[in-house]
Amino acid sequence: MQPLIELRQVSFGYGAEPALENIDLHLHPGQFAALVGPSGAGKTTLLKLVLGGLQPNQGEVYIHGQLLNGQPNPHVGYVPQLETIDWNFPVTVEQVVLMGRIRRAAIWPWPSMAEKRQMRTILEQLEIDHLAQRHIRDLSGGQRQRVFLARALIAEPDLLVLDEPTAGVDMRTAENVLHLLADLNRQGMTVLMTIHDLNAAAAHAPWIVCLNRRIIAQGRPEEVFVEDILNETYRGDMMVIRQDGMLFVQQRPHSHTYHEVVPDPVPGHPIEKVNDGYISASV
Ligand code: ADP
Repeated sequence: MQPLIELRQVSFGYGAEPALENIDLHLHPGQFAALVGPSGAGKTTLLKLVLGGLQPNQGEVYIHGQLLNGQPNPHVGYVPQLETIDWNFPVTVEQVVLMGRIRRAAIWPWPSMAEKRQMRTILEQLEIDHLAQRHIRDLSGGQRQRVFLARALIAEPDLLVLDEPTAGVDMRTAENVLHLLADLNRQGMTVLMTIHDLNAAAAHAPWIVCLNRRIIAQGRPEEVFVEDILNETYRGDMMVIRQDGMLFVQQRPHSHTYHEVVPDPVPGHPIEKVNDGYISASV
């Protein structure tokens, strides 16, 4: 089967420092993949390369086997991070969703009856049809996420790319958004998202890509959420707990050793305090 997206030996840097090095990545139609890694790992950069917003310094990006050369691709629908959106912009839900009609909007500025029907169907599918005339400012985090999903879906993409769809919403809303993405995936949509919450990724994404400038590992959550891989990805001390068929990932708690010089009982001989135990007097 031809991959929907393929990155072949892709490297990219904003300056002299590489942000991504020798990335080989395939995503097949119907996959649901989560891109994880620490802040600065290059996750957003990788999404921008897939969206055609950046061009690799080396290597190639293919979508449906076609070389992507810095042009936005109509097969890819993008859902931006909610935190980057100006919510005071005076538009309604309906207007935001119709902005997604990228295939026709450039030639034909107003929506056809068919497009309005299609919008209604998508709003119903995402259970926000009752909000069509509402100003986007007046929506909850989960509703906002659905509006931007609808905006991407109206262009009938083959691939949905989402940048941190669970950032800035409460835990329950995050769960709902991830369930919704899993439903869309079951209906055939290919999904690539970045996500910082490893436990949410483990619970919802069938395929995980661990990134830190290069691809450290990829596979099913139970294959990649192991301490060695996580420690290499996050350059930290990670702990994996398996319980009742579920995976929990956490940074290992450190017994922080702090040093503090306390007032000296003997003038001129301060005592060093380590973790509440007085251990030494510097003489
Ligand atoms: P992530 O999404 O994993 O946090 P990014 O892709 O945003 O990582 O960033 C990867 C690296 O590229 C970081 O070192 C970041 O500082 C740098 N970077 C990102 N965007 C720019 C930019 N527009 N100009 C210069 N450096 C950038």
